[in-house]
Amino acid sequence: MDPNKIDVKIIDPKTNRDANGKIYVRKSQGAYQKLRRYGGWFLMLLFALLPWISYDGRQAILFDLGKQQFLFFGATFFPQDLTLLALIFVIAAFGLFLLTTFLGRVWCGYLCPQTVWTFIFIWFEEKLEGPANKRRKQDNNKYSSHLIVRKTLKHIAWWAVSIITGLVFVGYFIPIKELSIEFFTFELGFLPAFWVWFFAACTYGNAGWMRAIMCLHMCPYARFQSAMFDKDTYIVGYDTKRGEKRGPRSLKAKKPKDLGDCIDCNLCVQVCPTGIDIRNGLQYECINCGACIDACDHTMERMGYEKGLISYTTEHKLAGNKTKIMRPKLIGYSVALVLMLALFIAQVVTVDPINMSVLRDRNQMYRIDSNGWIENTYTLKILNKTQQEQQYNIDVAGLKNVKWYGSQTISVPAGQLVSKPLSLAVSPDELTSPIVKFEFILSDNDGFSLKVESRFIKKL
Ligand code: SF4
Ligand code: SF4
Repeated sequence: MDPNKIDVKIIDPKTNRDANGKIYVRKSQGAYQKLRRYGGWFLMLLFALLPWISYDGRQAILFDLGKQQFLFFGATFFPQDLTLLALIFVIAAFGLFLLTTFLGRVWCGYLCPQTVWTFIFIWFEEKLEGPANKRRKQDNNKYSSHLIVRKTLKHIAWWAVSIITGLVFVGYFIPIKELSIEFFTFELGFLPAFWVWFFAACTYGNAGWMRAIMCLHMCPYARFQSAMFDKDTYIVGYDTKRGEKRGPRSLKAKKPKDLGDCIDCNLCVQVCPTGIDIRNGLQYECINCGACIDACDHTMERMGYEKGLISYTTEHKLAGNKTKIMRPKLIGYSVALVLMLALFIAQVVTVDPINMSVLRDRNQMYRIDSNGWIENTYTLKILNKTQQEQQYNIDVAGLKNVKWYGSQTISVPAGQLVSKPLSLAVSPDELTSPIVKFEFILSDNDGFSLKVESRFIKKL
C-alpha cells in the first residue's frame, strides 16, 4: 500500500476528522435545516437584490463614498449625521446582545454571512460531488476524469457566487448598474475592480475552504458571546439523563433495560460543521445550527423513541428546573433597545432636510461703501439633503434697511453643498452698537424656513 495514501477509514469518531484534519459534513435533513436552507437563500437574495431597487430615480440604498452621502429610500444622510450612524451600530449591538442572551448563538447558526455562504457552497458541493462519505473516499483516491470535471464545475459555481457577492457588496458603495456594466465590459477602473475581486476572493476562501475555521479560530464574536449566556439561554443540549448509558442495539429489539435512548449512531457528530460531539456538553465551538437535533430526531423516529434527545433547551431545563424567560439581563437589554430605537426614530423624524452655516469674512471685519454705509461680507454654506433640486429665498432679521450685494435667491441641486458669497450694507445710523446680532433666514415657497445667527460688525 502507498504510505502516502490516506486510509479513509482513519476517521476520529469524536470529531469526524480524517487523517488530514478535514471535516466532511454529512447532510442533515429536518425542520431546522430546512429553515437554514430557505432562510439562507432568502437572505442571500435580499442582499443581492436590495442595491438594484431604485427610489426617485436613484439607487435606494447607497453609501456614496465619493459624494460622502448615504442614500436610504429618499433620505440623504451626510457626515454631519454621524450620530445616526453611531445609533444604528448601538441598536444593532443591543439587538444582538438581546438575541444571544435569549436564543444563544442563533446569529451564528442561521444569520451570519459566513454560515449562510458556507451552507450555499456546501449545497453546490453536495450536488456536484455527492454526499460526504463519497466525497471523502473520492478525495483520498486518484481523481478520475469524471471527478475532475465535477470538481471544476464546483469551483466555477463557487467563483460565480463569489464574484456576484463581491460585485453586489461593492454595489452598495458605487451605483450598481454602472458598476456591473463596466465590470462585465472590462471597463471598470482599477480601484473598484480591485475591491470586487478582493471581496470575491474573501468569499471563495472563507465559504469554500475556511468554513468553520473562521468560527472556531478567527471570529471575535464567538469568543465573547458566552459572556452573555446564562442558565436560561437557549442552547443546543443533549439530555444526558435520558440518553445515557448510550449503546448500540438492534432496530427491532426492545430497548435494553441498562441502556438509555442514545444508540451511539454518531450521526450527531457526522453532521456537525464544527466537528464536535454535543453529548460532551456545552462547547464554545457549537454554533447552534441545529443539524445534530435534526439528525438525532431522525434516529429517534426510526427507533420509535420520542424526539428531542438533542434539542434547543436551557441549562436549567436540562437540570430539571424551570426556564425563566423574563430575567433582569434580558429586560435590561430590551429596555436599552427600545430607548435607542425611540431616540433613533426621533432623530430621523426631526432631521433637517437643509443645513446652513454662515461664515464671516475673516480678512476684513467691515468696510465703508461709496455711500458711507457699513458693509460686511459673508459666505453661506447651504447643504440640500433632499433628493430634489431646491430654490430658496435668503433674508435677514434683526437688521433694518439692509442693502444687498448679491442675489437673495439660490438654487441648490439635490444632495449638494453650495457656497453663496454675499455682502450686506447698513447705514451707520441704524446700528445701535459696534456688534449687532442678527439672523439669516433661508426659506422656500412651501413654508420651510431655517434661521442661523450671525454678527454685523461696525467697529471693534
Ligand atoms: S444522533 Fe442521537 S442517538 Fe445518535 S449518537 Fe447522537 S445523540 Fe446518540
Ligand atoms: S453541536 Fe449541533 S448545533 Fe452545535 S454546531 Fe454541531 S451540529 Fe450545530
